[in-house]
Amino acid sequence: MTNDDKDIPRVEIIPEECKGCELCVTQCPKDCLYMSDKINQFGYNVACYTGESCTGCGICFYACPEPGTIKVFKK
Ligand code: SF4
Ligand code: SF4
Repeated sequence: MTNDDKDIPRVEIIPEECKGCELCVTQCPKDCLYMSDKINQFGYNVACYTGESCTGCGICFYACPEPGTIKVFKK
């Protein structure tokens, strides 16, 4: 990641903490999250960021029932 990338709103999802509930995916107004076919150690498919279009609105952060799983980086 370059320094420039850090100035763009984005999210990071910690796959080991995700429970695969899909709430973040269904709530994101920009459709920039998706359920991947990756499976974590608990057997859940994990949510991922497409890498584009995040506005840093934080809706996914508040929708996620697992504290600390989604990190939102604003500008
Ligand atoms: S911060 Fe907003 S736009 Fe970015 S992934 Fe979360 S819900 Fe979507
Ligand atoms: S809301 Fe949280 S636990 Fe549910 S799929 Fe998204 S990151 Fe995973």
